[in-house]
Amino acid sequence: MLDDPVLAESVRGNVLAGMDELSALDAARDMIVSMFGHIDDEYLAARSDDVRDIFGQIRDAMTGNAVSSVFKAAKGSILVAEELFPSDMGDLDFSSLSGILCHKGSTTSHVCIIAHAKGLPIQMGVEVAGIRDGDAVCVDDPVFGGVPFISARVRTAGRKLYVNAGSVDEIRAGIAAGADGVGLFRTEFLFLGRDAMPSREEQRALYREALAACEGRPLLLRTLDVGGDKMLPYMPMPAEDNPFLGLRGVRFCLAHPELFRVQLSAVLDAARDVRESHPLWFDAGTPLRLMLPMVCSVEEIRQVKEMLSEIDAGYASLVRVGIMVETPAAALEAASLAAESAFFSIGTNDLTQYVMAADRGNPAVAGQYDPYAPAVLKAIALAVEAAHAYGIPAGICGELASDPKATDILLSMGLDSLSLSRL
Ligand code: PEP
Ligand code: MG
Repeated sequence: MLDDPVLAESVRGNVLAGMDELSALDAARDMIVSMFGHIDDEYLAARSDDVRDIFGQIRDAMTGNAVSSVFKAAKGSILVAEELFPSDMGDLDFSSLSGILCHKGSTTSHVCIIAHAKGLPIQMGVEVAGIRDGDAVCVDDPVFGGVPFISARVRTAGRKLYVNAGSVDEIRAGIAAGADGVGLFRTEFLFLGRDAMPSREEQRALYREALAACEGRPLLLRTLDVGGDKMLPYMPMPAEDNPFLGLRGVRFCLAHPELFRVQLSAVLDAARDVRESHPLWFDAGTPLRLMLPMVCSVEEIRQVKEMLSEIDAGYASLVRVGIMVETPAAALEAASLAAESAFFSIGTNDLTQYVMAADRGNPAVAGQYDPYAPAVLKAIALAVEAAHAYGIPAGICGELASDPKATDILLSMGLDSLSLSRL
């Protein structure tokens, strides 16, 4: 935001028009805030809080008021605030907090997103003026509030409740919260934000830890899912006109066998390590499931299996290979893909964008990006029916699984597992 020329230009314009610096800054803030306030999208409109936050920090820096101290609270405290800014969140000691109540702000503000990412319930729009230090209060967060409901429904229906994870810590937290396994382990986080590809040994150690943290429960380890908006600086990734229709997911991996082979080898190494230390976990079949993203054809699955058998002819005792159903092609061809897969996991985040032809990140088509659209529900139904016809399980790991409004629909469609973004 600080780099945005609109900010600098409007302050400069105000100064040239004769205002003093602070008034020029405040007038620029009001202008930009009102621009955001008029956007007809709840999420984008809520970004005006972020603008006020940035301007507040510039003002503090200009007036010498900048104070930042790490906020300390007794263990289990609930933080009560009139208003919080994203920058305040950096000053919080999350380990001591149990939740946050806040008067100003919406559920789509960055403060909410950060709190959720830290596993902290937060309730916005609460009248906090009368609350005194030491009062007993509770936090009613619909995101966390939904988990007990979803979990009860899934259990009653006799289905599995999985958790999505991007790190071993998240796996441990999910298992501790009662997950039956990990429905989506996003391995790309190990590959992003660094200068070189992680070595086979580094990958092996991570996958081993992830598998061990599941203690014999299934781990659906997704192979590297980059391309689209996730770029690796150390790989040639030429700009594409339509990156979400380009070299993404398994396509990227098959186009870079040298990189993919390292990941597959590390996965098999990790499975062997864990089988050696915990043979019982492998008695009823392997807990490790290799999940391929963005699959569109049987040929892609066969190519991956061929690479696996080149690495280790006995790979089938170490991993079972399945796919994410997240393209229209995968849903329409679910029957032939099921014949080559040990499981399906439906990725509704992408399935919705491809079925509805609506970019999942473009607010202008947020209305069209509707996972409840009949076309998306039909695609899910096709995948579930094909899976069951072939006797393989079909789960869901897209965000739709975390929406309590969807739970009964998904269970009645026969999904065998729901993998939630948090438990
Ligand atoms: C999905 O597409 O639904 C999914 C779970 O994968 P990601 O959100 O990582 O693309
Ligand atoms: Mg996806």
